Amino acid sequence: MKKIQSGDSFQRMNYLYQISKHVVEKNAALSSYYNTLMINLAKKSVLKIHPDIKRQVCKKCRCMLVNNVSAKMKFKSKKKSKIIEWTCNTCNTKKSFPADKNNQKTLWLEREEAEVKDCNNYEK
Ligand SMILES: [Zn+2]
Repeated sequence: MKKIQSGDSFQRMNYLYQISKHVVEKNAALSSYYNTLMINLAKKSVLKIHPDIKRQVCKKCRCMLVNNVSAKMKFKSKKKSKIIEWTCNTCNTKKSFPADKNNQKTLWLEREEAEVKDCNNYEK
């Protein structure tokens, strides 16, 4: 077996991530498959997956979580902090994480800008 250089692994992980995101609308199972490959590759190469990417992957079925496509997203407020809760459409697993300002910058402004205006509907 050839040794995998970490640079190649990063490229392959990035590639798998891109395809996974691309196919999730049409085929959630295929998306899970690509994400599983990506996670296995990361483990094998002892590489860390970027937290932003991890947050977009269902922890149970490993499907890519895309709002209104493969998952539902809710905003919840706890005292001063806001929490984003994702529910996977495939396996109904919930995952939540704090919506701090730094993450909002990367997650919202770049990828989810269309969803921000709906957040008031989800407030409880
Ligand atoms: Zn799932």
